[in-house]
Amino acid sequence: MRIDAVTIFPEYLEPLRHALLGKAIEQGILEVGVHDLRDWATGGHKSVDAPPLGGGPGMVMKPEVWGPALDSIAAGHTGTALTTSAAHRNDKLRHDDVSEVAARPYTESRDVRKGEDPDAPLLIVPTPAGVPFTQAQARAWSNERHLVFACGRYEGIDQRVFADAAQRYRVREVSIGDYVLIGGEVAVLVIAEAVTRLIPGVLGNTESHEEDSFSDGLLEGPSYTKPRVWRGIEAPAVLTSGDHAKVARFRRDEALKRTKAVRPELIDAAAAAGQLSDEDRFTLDAREVITELDVLGRVQRGVDKHLRKHLRKAGYLVDSIEWEERGADVCFGPSMLETEFERREGRPSTEPVVKLTIRGRTALPVVEATKAVVAGLPRGVDWYGSTRVVEIT
Ligand code: SAM
Repeated sequence: MRIDAVTIFPEYLEPLRHALLGKAIEQGILEVGVHDLRDWATGGHKSVDAPPLGGGPGMVMKPEVWGPALDSIAAGHTGTALTTSAAHRNDKLRHDDVSEVAARPYTESRDVRKGEDPDAPLLIVPTPAGVPFTQAQARAWSNERHLVFACGRYEGIDQRVFADAAQRYRVREVSIGDYVLIGGEVAVLVIAEAVTRLIPGVLGNTESHEEDSFSDGLLEGPSYTKPRVWRGIEAPAVLTSGDHAKVARFRRDEALKRTKAVRPELIDAAAAAGQLSDEDRFTLDAREVITELDVLGRVQRGVDKHLRKHLRKAGYLVDSIEWEERGADVCFGPSMLETEFERREGRPSTEPVVKLTIRGRTALPVVEATKAVVAGLPRGVDWYGSTRVVEIT
């Protein structure tokens, strides 16, 4: 890929030659040309701006300077080429070399609109008035051969520059967020970094960006490294369990929960695109619940296993089941269940009242959760109780 950036502050783009971008330059994956806009300015002061037509505050960048600058870059003018900031060890094997993984380009279709020349360079114009820059664009643009950035300053660049540039470029006006910067250079660093890290071979481990936030429409969940316990805070135990399927499910669940909390609109979009499985829906909709029932009747040993299985099928994932005999140590009168039993059967119950507590997660309404528990108990037991949602503080 070749990147050309036009600015009145060429030094501002110095970071493009550091770290992995510097390495990509060194490896010949990336070429970066930086151009001083004033090289195309005329007159004694080499002025690049003028007051806005119609009046108002600030200055606007002049079309007579930007027009020729963009013409000559489209015609192949290369400007000052950035070299890497430091020599890198290119003899060291990287993750993909070791695992024999071929770096994959994104299959995202290229950003070519109707009537545009697919071979024309892409002119990226950072502006707070542009469409929001997204990871999907970064993926599409990582397949380009030539990106040109026009860095605005002051109140921005005369709009006719882009109407004219559309003859030689595919023009995209993009914003990096809902705030206003002083100039376009920082936005260029942001966009260039987001795009170039997706070029095959720039990152040593292709999977690392394939699993990043936004790659599957969700934010990535929290990350952890060694030690397992740090300052008394434990990393989630599942991550050291060695069970790959469980780790994958845990990560997906964390990504879903974080996305729901921070960017709920991304969940809606993933749902609309059919990207959520039944398990995902469960993670998103389930709440922590407790079912507490008084039970009168014979409850066999081994019922817990049956109950767990039955409840899982019903959409109630059980964390714990406890049985506790009522009242041996406390002086209770007969409970409602015992009174009712005696009224109905004409004799007192020979079974004790047992308190059943189930903790777990479900997306069922609480009444349905209670019904599901009762349906999993032996037939004919008397019960009284309910399910409630545990408020997480
Ligand atoms: N008058 C412009 C407006 O209100 O839309 C703001 C101009 S801003 C002070 C100067 C330059 O900073 C812009 O031309 C653009 O290059 C850059 N810029 C500022 N905020 C930006 C953002 N959120 N995204 C991308 N570029 C931005």
